[in-house]
Amino acid sequence: MALIACPECSADVSDSALNCAKCGVQLRKPKRGFFGKIIKYTFIVFNLLMGWWLVAGMGAASETIQTAGSSAEQAGAAIGTGLGAAMIIGLWVFGDIILGLFVMLTRPKS
Ligand SMILES: [Zn+2]
Repeated sequence: MALIACPECSADVSDSALNCAKCGVQLRKPKRGFFGKIIKYTFIVFNLLMGWWLVAGMGAASETIQTAGSSAEQAGAAIGTGLGAAMIIGLWVFGDIILGLFVMLTRPKS
């Protein structure tokens, strides 16, 4: 552990310190750990996948509604679509909360 001079107040500070102990200026940017990076990208990919799933699912469902013969079949397909969408959104929100928690926990400390 070496000592460097603070660029602000010229006090001797450890080169491993994130902030100057004397004036508090930030010396280095805190870095997200390897695990934190994985969580962050998982969070982004998860949101993209859920968004894609919702759009793809809605597209397929509206086709089913249009091609369904009787009005009863159409109503059934519409209800199924609503339930499917609610399930996807519920799963999406749940996953976001869990992943969001991990993103917060792995956030770099300053
Ligand atoms: Zn300083």
